[in-house]
Amino acid sequence: MLKYLRPYISAILFLITATVGGVAATLKLPDFTARIINEGIIGGHQDIIVPVGLQMLGIALVGGIFTIITGYLSARIGTGFSRDLRAGLFTKVERFSLVEMNTFSPSSLITRTTNDIQQVQTVLVMVMRMVLAAPITAIWALYKANAIAPDMSWIMALAITALLAVVITLFVLVIPKFQLVQKLTDKLNLVSRENITGIRVIRAFDNQHNEADRLKKVNTDLTKTNIFVARATALMQPVMFLILNLVSVVIVWSGAHLIGTYVLEIGDMLAFMQYAIQVIFSFLMITIVFIMVPRALVSGKRILEVLSVDPIIKDPITPKETKQANGVLVFNDVTFGYDQADVPILENISFTAQPGQVTAIIGSTGSGKSTLINLVPRFYDTLFGEITIDGVNITEMSQHQLRSIIGYVPQKSVIFSGTIHSNIAYSNKTANTDDIHNAARIAQADEFISLLPKAYETPISQYGTNLSGGQKQRISIARAITKDPSIYIFDDTFSALDYKTEVTLRHELKKVTKQKTVLIVAQRVNTILHADQIIVLDKGKNIGQGTHQELMKTCSVYQEIAKSQLSEDELNKYL
Ligand code: ATP
Ligand code: MG
Repeated sequence: MLKYLRPYISAILFLITATVGGVAATLKLPDFTARIINEGIIGGHQDIIVPVGLQMLGIALVGGIFTIITGYLSARIGTGFSRDLRAGLFTKVERFSLVEMNTFSPSSLITRTTNDIQQVQTVLVMVMRMVLAAPITAIWALYKANAIAPDMSWIMALAITALLAVVITLFVLVIPKFQLVQKLTDKLNLVSRENITGIRVIRAFDNQHNEADRLKKVNTDLTKTNIFVARATALMQPVMFLILNLVSVVIVWSGAHLIGTYVLEIGDMLAFMQYAIQVIFSFLMITIVFIMVPRALVSGKRILEVLSVDPIIKDPITPKETKQANGVLVFNDVTFGYDQADVPILENISFTAQPGQVTAIIGSTGSGKSTLINLVPRFYDTLFGEITIDGVNITEMSQHQLRSIIGYVPQKSVIFSGTIHSNIAYSNKTANTDDIHNAARIAQADEFISLLPKAYETPISQYGTNLSGGQKQRISIARAITKDPSIYIFDDTFSALDYKTEVTLRHELKKVTKQKTVLIVAQRVNTILHADQIIVLDKGKNIGQGTHQELMKTCSVYQEIAKSQLSEDELNKYL
């Protein structure tokens, strides 16, 4: 994380210089006070009052300028640092494989990128603006106070002991609560997110009350903890002022005695008092930091957790380049499980998908179809066995190259905010309007698009909520077509289309996928009747492979699926 501060080293050095300058100026002021009172007023040299006063003004001005500089620099450094850190965090998360995505929840990642970085930034700015000066001021002021009136040093010692006692008590009470606050913020985020995204389901099942209760619980917990922290911290200021006032009284009382015995001059006593005030204020600053820093540390740790993750899916050091991809996709005895210790989700899967052929995968829900095809773009890595494209193991290619030859249409369409045009063009930055329209036509999307008020330029709201499920599917199919990849992957992408549209779409699609490898996951036997090979998955095992006709003879599970979906006539027709 510190590397994000590196660009600001020179600014930080400048900041430190300005801080020291500011402290020196402030600590010079009591000397002038002492002179004006001792020499000017009591000593009867009234003529020095104006010049010394002017000097004092000048020094105060210099101190003010230094303070402005530190304020400006700390704001620049703090915001710049958090901007870079946010960018760094985002880039890191972008490189996460789905394995890492499963470890951090989206709401936690969002809190880490926003709230946690904000915490770190606040503390950083505070440290730079005020706290850097505090220890310097405290020590310097102590030294000067001691030089001016060594007989009253015990007062300072007493004051510091009292201050330390307050700080330590507070520390013990408040620190453990901060971790809790951050955890509860995550939880609050999670509940709010689920509530907002799931609003239709919540309404439909009339569960508003339960959800409100759930939110109320987290909210109350968070509020209670925050109130405790706020109360404890709020107590600090009055206590500090009490100590300050008591110290002033003791200084005046014991100073009066010393003045009475001509050991001390009045001006020196006042200067001593000013130093004492500065020491106590420095302590106040340091305490604030002691309270804020642990909170920022919790946040910092959470940010580091993300930054230090080493994505499991890595590019090879020297990636193999395949020149012209043909798209021969081979699964060679592939076994995979999400949790390596558990029973595998896929077991010993072997098949070859040739260019110019359609390879279909069918099986009941949860049989591992999506899992199988998610291995091709390396969303996950296989546990055993290998997947090759044109003879090259996909782990030996760069992820960029691998994914550049794949057109993937996920089971759940993902639509980005923007326009229909931008969503279809998402896969291929060089696509022109004709390509986009052509892809939409093949995907059977142009008809509904042309009916929209602004056609291709119709704005799409977040998550594509202004589109129907089938419309979203067709746009994401068009997106894959625009890319013109060597390998097409359709994960159950025709399920939201009516049968007639599906038939036309597959017919049109066939024209562009003539030379391509096509992988289709399907629920409907109709969709895959004419596939060149069909793989039947059952609980992650490949229990049948062949054409429809072959499987009708050899695979009982496939027969069952087919019989449940097709009429007698259809069954006989395709026999
Ligand atoms: P459907 O037809 O419903 O889409 P599917 O055949 O595509 O089903 P998969 O999504 O591949 O099924 O899931 C296969 C199994 O893997 C399921 O038992 C599921 O619980 C499990 N699974 C899926 N995704 C994950 C994940 N991210 N982490 C852990 N287990 C998972
Ligand atoms: Mg699936």
